[in-house]
Formats: sequence, structure tokens, C-alpha cells
Amino acid sequence: MIELRTPLEIEQMRAAGRFVASVLEATAAASTVGKNLLSIDRLAHDMIRKAGAESCYIDYHPSFGASPFGKVICTSVNDAALHGLPHDYTLRDGDLLSLDFAASVDGWVADSAISFVVGTPRDDDLALIETTSRALDAGIAAATVGNRIGDISASIGAVAHAEGYRVNTEFGGHSVGRTMHGDLHIPNDGRASRGLPLRAGLVFAIEPWLMIGTDKIYTDADGWTLRSADGSRAAHFEHTVAITDDGPIVLSARRA
Ligand code: MG
Repeated sequence: MIELRTPLEIEQMRAAGRFVASVLEATAAASTVGKNLLSIDRLAHDMIRKAGAESCYIDYHPSFGASPFGKVICTSVNDAALHGLPHDYTLRDGDLLSLDFAASVDGWVADSAISFVVGTPRDDDLALIETTSRALDAGIAAATVGNRIGDISASIGAVAHAEGYRVNTEFGGHSVGRTMHGDLHIPNDGRASRGLPLRAGLVFAIEPWLMIGTDKIYTDADGWTLRSADGSRAAHFEHTVAITDDGPIVLSARRA
């Protein structure tokens, strides 16, 4: 079922969006050369506890997961694209890190992700990150009443294809509400003017992710981390967005 939120409920969801944004700001700032992924997870865990929020990840155990996730943030390094399970790894100069975080505040969920280079960047990583971020912006711009889900998908795909990236559509955006994953799926590529019409009150995560050399992935031996099939690097950006008659509201917006 696709649920519509009232303006009051969307207002209530802002707290979760702000909290998720604050955790990504703090964990990104803490992700420096020499920092261990487990300490980044601990920082997010501490922030959840202090805020009285709830993790969406720690008990998350979908059909594709080997066991409950057990951590509160996804840390995907270099060829890891999605669902990077924090492990005992120390960040090195030039690592491309994606942080994906979702939490529930006052019973509402927000979900967001960012990618950046730790230390000295490579040009191809910067191009990948810039394109993925721009694909998210294009998806959000298409998230307006009168458009359809396919318009979001096509907008994301167009940005990726223009830069020569292939798009994997197995994992993509999803409706967000009381739980992290609603029934709505928003592929990162598709045909414009197709799919569900966008109505005020829809709230969903838009989340393009791209890999430099492939659109194929495989699951790491940890049972969670999804890696690029060819070992090339991946980037991932995500925001939780509310559709309103006045345009999309980015609930998980970070401070500039
Ligand atoms: Mg997410």
C-alpha cells in the first residue's frame, strides 16, 4: 500500500530528517585518514542514544541479508556500493567512502546517504561523486505533483548515461514512513511518464548509486556489503523527500 502523509505528518517527519542529516554531518567530518569504520559506527550509535532515536539498521534482516545487520550505519569503501557493513578497517588516504544512515525519531523514519573522498582525491572518483550527486538533484527536481515515478527514474538515468555510466536498477529509492522501506520502488533508470502519478503526501527516499566501470554487483563474504563486479569504485547519494503541492521538500537536507 502506498500511504499519503498529511501536511502535519510531513512537519513531524522533519525531526527525523534533521537528525539523520546531523549524523551524516558528524560521521563524515569524523571520517579522516586513520579512522576505523567501527569508530564511525560507534559515533552514530552514540548520537542515536543521546537523541533517543531508533536505528533502522541494527535489527534489519531482509531476505537478501545473511543475518541482522548489527550496526547502525552503512560504511561502503571504494568498490563497495551499498550496504557496507562496518568492520575493522582503517581509512586510508584516497579512499572513497559512502555513508548511508537511517533512523526513526518520534516514530518517523528518514534515510540519507553521502559519498566523499577521504584525504587526497582521484579525478575519476571526483567525477563519479559529482555525477551521482547531480543525479540525485535531478531526481529531486522531477519529484513534483503532475509527474510520475518514471520521470524521477528517467531524470536520474539521463544524468548517469550522459557521463557514460551504466545504471543498476536492482536497488533504488523506496517509500519511507513509519518504517524504512515502503512498497514504492523508484528505480534509478526508467521511462519518463510511466508509473505511479506523484501526489502531495508521498514521502520517499531517492537514492542514485553508480559504479565507474559496471552495473553489476556481487555480495561480499560478510553477507551484506554489495561490491562492484569489476572492482571499480562506487558512489551513492540519497535524500528523503516529501511531495507537496508547493514542490519537493528535502527532509534530510544538510547544512550547506
Ligand atoms: Mg539509505
